[in-house]
Amino acid sequence: MIATVLPTYNRAPLAFERGAGSWLVTGDGQRYLDLGAGIAVNALGHAHPALIAALTDQAARLWHVSNIYTVPEQQDLADLLVAETFADTVFFTNSGTEAAELAIKMARKFHHDAGQPERVEIIAVEGAFHGRSTGAIAAAGSEKMVKGFGPLMPGFTQLKWPTSEGGHDAIRAAITDQTCAVMIEPVQGEGGIRVVPDQCLKGLRDLCDQTGTLLIFDEVQCGMGRTGRLFAHEWAGVSPDIMMVAKGIGGGFPLGAVLATERAASGMTVGTHGSTYGGNPLGCAVGAAVTKIIADPAFLAEVARKGALFRQGLESLVARHPQVFEGVRGEGLMLGLRCKPAPADVVKAGYDAGILTVAAADNVLRLLPALNIPDDDIAEALRRLDQTAASLTKAA
Ligand SMILES: *Cc1c(COP(=O)(O)O)cnc(C)c1O
Repeated sequence: MIATVLPTYNRAPLAFERGAGSWLVTGDGQRYLDLGAGIAVNALGHAHPALIAALTDQAARLWHVSNIYTVPEQQDLADLLVAETFADTVFFTNSGTEAAELAIKMARKFHHDAGQPERVEIIAVEGAFHGRSTGAIAAAGSEKMVKGFGPLMPGFTQLKWPTSEGGHDAIRAAITDQTCAVMIEPVQGEGGIRVVPDQCLKGLRDLCDQTGTLLIFDEVQCGMGRTGRLFAHEWAGVSPDIMMVAKGIGGGFPLGAVLATERAASGMTVGTHGSTYGGNPLGCAVGAAVTKIIADPAFLAEVARKGALFRQGLESLVARHPQVFEGVRGEGLMLGLRCKPAPADVVKAGYDAGILTVAAADNVLRLLPALNIPDDDIAEALRRLDQTAASLTKAA
């Protein structure tokens, strides 16, 4: 008989009852150091007092009103995001996937209204992840995600990873008079913590400018302070026309957003898009509390410092356990350890050492701790990862 919860997840036999900071606790009191943070969602750790206050204050006042009314909490968060980024305007969603859907619609509508309705093709990158809707799986085009779900939404192509040989020339060649947009994660998350070099993002921006193509950054995983800047693309000194945000922005409350320039958003007039819950007062109250904390330059400098500290420890871990780990990659507190064994086996061995990590493609173990993880917890994480590697070496 089928499980009462649709069995689409390969779940670990772990259930948590509460959390505090970087720690999760099971019903029987076992403590786990959480380096997954709900896959980069719990950006400020578990049970952050400022987020509890924002949520409960709002909950006592007003949970939900329809978007047929003005929502001041939404306005406040939009103003904050616009003040901190390239964007002129924001649409709120409940997830990253919904942000991807709007990014696609917005880019196509832009060209449609600009008198070039033939510009519908969106170029994505091999190894990308943009969500699980029919549009988002067509965009990423991964065999594993699309198999059996056809016919796929047309209008997407995937290019090789931009630094692979001829990658940039391939992108240049792929942009035609039908091209609508290029969609790319500045740091691939699911793809294995693969950082797109700054030069590549700059080159892409130039190519898009030369050809009138819109540039969409998917910062659902790498954004909201994860790399030590509010958004990862800031390291390269270029900005997109449209950006998808989710995960960390709600700190655990389901919230996403599409940020855009006035020009890129010009087709999205009254009646062209909407959402029942998107931008609801509860989500936006929490999102504003999260954003105020993370956007503080002093907080971001700490993320970068903690990232460097953690990375240094991981480098020595790799040196001590060459049979298990091959190298460190990533930026800030979006870190990956390339593994020799299957990363899923390393995740599993980590459970026995009381540490939670996440597997990714390209044989990478993802480390995405809370952005405010104390230095002591970083030291403890390194000890537990060392123990994990030692147990795998013994088993081999
Ligand atoms: C998680 C993720 C998404 C999808 O977000 P959901 O909230 O799961 O819909 C899209 N893009 C990237 C880069 C992600 O990491």
